[in-house]
Amino acid sequence: MNIHEYQAKSILRQSGVNVPNGYVAYSIDEAVEYAKGINSDVKVVKAQIHAGGRGKAGGVKIAHSQDEVRAYAKEILGKVLVTPQTGPEGKEVKRLLIEEGCNIEKEYYLGLVLDRSISRIVLMGSEEGGMEIEEVAASNPEKIFKEVIDPTIGLTGFQARRLAFNLNFPSQYIGKVAKLMLNLYKSFVDSDCMIAEINPLVTTKEGDVLALDAKMNFDGNALYRQKDILELRDLDEEDRNEIEASKYDLSYIQLDGNIGCMVNGAGLAMATMDIIKYEGGNPANFLDVGGDATPEKVAEAFKIILSDPDVKGILVNVFGGIMKCDYIAQGIIAATKELELSIPLVVRLEGTNVDLGKKLLNDSGLNITAADSMGDGAQKIVQMVKEAGN
Ligand code: GDP
Ligand code: MN
Repeated sequence: MNIHEYQAKSILRQSGVNVPNGYVAYSIDEAVEYAKGINSDVKVVKAQIHAGGRGKAGGVKIAHSQDEVRAYAKEILGKVLVTPQTGPEGKEVKRLLIEEGCNIEKEYYLGLVLDRSISRIVLMGSEEGGMEIEEVAASNPEKIFKEVIDPTIGLTGFQARRLAFNLNFPSQYIGKVAKLMLNLYKSFVDSDCMIAEINPLVTTKEGDVLALDAKMNFDGNALYRQKDILELRDLDEEDRNEIEASKYDLSYIQLDGNIGCMVNGAGLAMATMDIIKYEGGNPANFLDVGGDATPEKVAEAFKIILSDPDVKGILVNVFGGIMKCDYIAQGIIAATKELELSIPLVVRLEGTNVDLGKKLLNDSGLNITAADSMGDGAQKIVQMVKEAGN
């Protein structure tokens, strides 16, 4: 789960990480009102969306007066920002962060991530911080330094100082930076975080070290014990279909192909996507309806798949174990009728009562193509979608 920059900064502030003073505003008037309470000449107006790259897309503005705060708030609020992280459709800005400005001396990068390949949390940093860190990682990987953290010991002061030295912080900053890193690490572990990124971490002309941007992503499986963090969820920032799916306990991830998939079991769903690709097609989604593929869930799954206008055909690949095939077939037939399905539908059923299930599909009089195997099903749907001119 992702949160907004202002929310991440509030968490960091509570953990003792130095961040600028700021307020979240939902309207232009609020933005201007809050700016009055900020003690610096320079105020920063920042778009709050769950995506980075805002600076280059015009979502971060430096204001030198109240009038400029108003003008920038007006310009950014309601605007659809398109950044490399939002996708081409962009994201509408509904919240602003009004923040105290600072005199940046130098911008650094700092990040904590869970590295699955070594099962360790890794602290990373670079003195080439700011807006082009992805390019640094690609072209100058030696400019990124890492500290692998032992989970039983945690980040040590020695590691934090070593990283600070590697990033060439002037000596008067080493102590402050190391302390910031240790606080960041504590906050990361305490909140079941998966990614915490501070880009830029800055030194200022006044001699401070500040987290000027903050991005945090949390482990969805730990949210049951992170009630405070769960409250920060902003549904406006999440895919509508994915939210709808989670209400019915369906695991749904939207992709950019045109063949909708309805499958039970995550492994089978992955294999189904692979075989569609193998046959030259493109899956429109990952969808796991789970072990209890009741007719209601099947109907809901169809609705979600069909709400994607790119979907030109559907492949159902279900193993009827506890839930018998004839029962699943009934769900498919009911959903096909209810939704007046007009695009090709290929169904592959396997498991208990499979013959009865297939008979129900064949006798339904509906335009449903039965498949004998996964390969057969994938071949059929890819061909039918192509023949329909897609
Ligand atoms: P991102 O583009 O979405 O990562 O947004 P950031 O919060 O990182 O802001 C982008 C850039 O705006 C930063 O790299 C800074 O150069 C600049 N910026 C952000 N806040 C301030 C500030 O308080 N003062 C100044 N002078 N520049 C800032
Ligand atoms: Mn940033």
